[in-house]
Amino acid sequence: RGHIRFENVEFGYDPDRQILKGIDLDIPAGATVAVVGPSGAGKSTLARLMFRFYDVTSGRITVDGQDLRDVTQHSLRSAIGIVPQDTVLFNDTIGYNIAYGREDATAEDIASAARGAAIAGFIQALPQGFDTRVGERGLKLSGGEKQRVAIARTLVKNPPILILDEATSALDSRTEADIQATLEAIERGRTTIVIAHRLSTIVHADRIVVLESGRVVEQGSHAELLRLG
Ligand code: ADP
Ligand code: ADP
Repeated sequence: RGHIRFENVEFGYDPDRQILKGIDLDIPAGATVAVVGPSGAGKSTLARLMFRFYDVTSGRITVDGQDLRDVTQHSLRSAIGIVPQDTVLFNDTIGYNIAYGREDATAEDIASAARGAAIAGFIQALPQGFDTRVGERGLKLSGGEKQRVAIARTLVKNPPILILDEATSALDSRTEADIQATLEAIERGRTTIVIAHRLSTIVHADRIVVLESGRVVEQGSHAELLRLG
């Protein structure tokens, strides 16, 4: 589950300015694909189309053969987890912030997550000692800790598809390396799109897609791209 295809996808926020042009991508279920390219190339826009914050102008995006336009918002949100660069947390406990990521969580689930009960399986994603700190308020967290809460919030849904949109870009390199290891562990068994600008976050990707001015200018494995150069 989680085979993604972009077929001749075109998109513009305004009708007179195309941002993405003729995008063709075939991402096998379970693969990790890195999308790289200069600022303004359209990487985040591509991620937003996956989530249907916007719909394609022409062409189509399918997941397991189904056109995204035929998928309900609810199933889209349970199928796709996204970890953004700047996580905004509720001014509440870590537990509340994590349970919120589960679309079908009841008030009771959230309450029990806030007590630490419901997140046992996600402790791996959290910094050491976090299981006893679950009642702490989010705003006291460091940038790295916030990102770990964002990852755990995404994991609650156990999504087959993961989008990491510059998820570690705002962190210092030591914290980034730390969180990178967790991300690589949770990517296993999921289709993952990594939007990145640092090489260290994409060395493990199965395929690299290079986007420039809204077009795919190169794509292939690390070895294939090196031969091109
Ligand atoms: P990247 O993630 O590669 O830096 P983006 O997808 O953020 O690129 O942006 C691609 C282009 O789309 C840029 O020219 C940007 O100014 C434009 N853009 C991004 N978001 C919007 C928006 N909400 N409305 C209009 N234009 C936008
Ligand atoms: P709600 O579910 O109430 O609409 P959330 O903040 O939980 O609001 O967002 C739902 C999903 O959308 C989450 O998986 C979240 O990570 C994702 N999301 C929120 N903001 C963005 C963004 N700017 N770009 C991409 N995904 C986002």
